[in-house]
Amino acid sequence: MHKIFKFGGASVKDVEAVRNLKTILEIYKNEKLIVVISAIGKMTNQFEKLLDSWYFEPESLKSNFEIIKNYHLDITKQLENSSGEITAVLLPIFDRLFEILSEKHSNHYDKDYDNIISFGEYLSTKLISTYLNLNGFENHFACAIDLVKTDDNFREGKIDWKETEKAIRDFVEKNPNKTIITQGFIGGTMNNEVTTLGREGSDYSAAIFAYCLNASEVTIWKDVSGLLNADPKFYHDAVKLNEISYQEAVELAYYGATIIHPKTIKPLQNKKIPLFVKSFLAPCDEGSKISEVEPLHKTPSYIFKTEQILLSIFPKDYSFIDAENLMKIFSFISKNKLKINLMQNSAMSFTICMDNKPNRFANLLKDLENNFAVRYNMNAKLITIRHFTPEEIEKVIGNQSVLLEQRSRTTLQVVIKN
Ligand code: ASP
Ligand code: MG
Repeated sequence: MHKIFKFGGASVKDVEAVRNLKTILEIYKNEKLIVVISAIGKMTNQFEKLLDSWYFEPESLKSNFEIIKNYHLDITKQLENSSGEITAVLLPIFDRLFEILSEKHSNHYDKDYDNIISFGEYLSTKLISTYLNLNGFENHFACAIDLVKTDDNFREGKIDWKETEKAIRDFVEKNPNKTIITQGFIGGTMNNEVTTLGREGSDYSAAIFAYCLNASEVTIWKDVSGLLNADPKFYHDAVKLNEISYQEAVELAYYGATIIHPKTIKPLQNKKIPLFVKSFLAPCDEGSKISEVEPLHKTPSYIFKTEQILLSIFPKDYSFIDAENLMKIFSFISKNKLKINLMQNSAMSFTICMDNKPNRFANLLKDLENNFAVRYNMNAKLITIRHFTPEEIEKVIGNQSVLLEQRSRTTLQVVIKN
């Protein structure tokens, strides 16, 4: 049975990180491994800038291209010690990228996005696969465009599970003996046009490979000790969650915890494949395990979301918040692609908390204008506590000014005025 490893940008961000990845793989050299890798460091953001300069700011195209090229070649040069063997693999890829950028873009932004942004993953995997092959860790390079088959919904490709399973299994059957290195986040249509699966989608890629191969487990290698119960940026006393259920992981992702890509859990749950989150800095440490098992003791978890809008909507004709009014409101929300983080109603008001997307919000207000009056708070903060206790609430909320509160048996959500 296969094990699937996923290495994100931070785990391949520089020379030491790439060497460390090799050390980790060597620990598992007797296993059948599929290794899914993201773009190096924060390169995906850099590729987004490159794409935008192609579209909107051609004068900075060349310099944005050079930043990306130099970043990769800098790491490469340190890895290859003047042999030039990895550089020789990467240079033609940069030439191809530059050739594309020298032409006029297609005006289909999302399609060009996938075509350009995917170079990040392509370059990182080429670099790493070549480095490993040159240094005694033999592996096969697989192109995810041929294996992860999607529809042509660019930037958010929907998986064609049947075709994907067939392609992945075929590839693995033909290449049975060596570790396989492939890209996270990217896929391809049946016509082999490049697609991507949504930002941070490499976790999902790992789950797709696991599902299609009935893998024994998936490990996501991170720069933290495992899944934490809060983002340390917002909460100083974050601790590791040793074990949580699939359901809890989905709940945490739903409330906005940025631990794993939200689509990752479903394919794993469907085949009961456990997911481990481990530190690439301490590969032998325990990490966290996500599986079917519901642990007895549930550690409270905290999710902090800033820049929230709290919007209250009132029917102008003094009617109730009934199904008809809700239908109107929801259709406007859906039309403007806004995501509700929390909602509550009274007889004549409907209140929602959502992320601030300025244009979309302005359009929503316009849509509501005819039938509804509105009041809103910008810049609010939404705090979610799973498995809360009175002490936790006191500690996290204290005497901050609460605009709205909602609680179920397991979850407390509070919107706080800034
Ligand atoms: N490189 C992509 C991103 O940063 C995919 C990923 O890292 O999962 O969004
Ligand atoms: Mg990334």
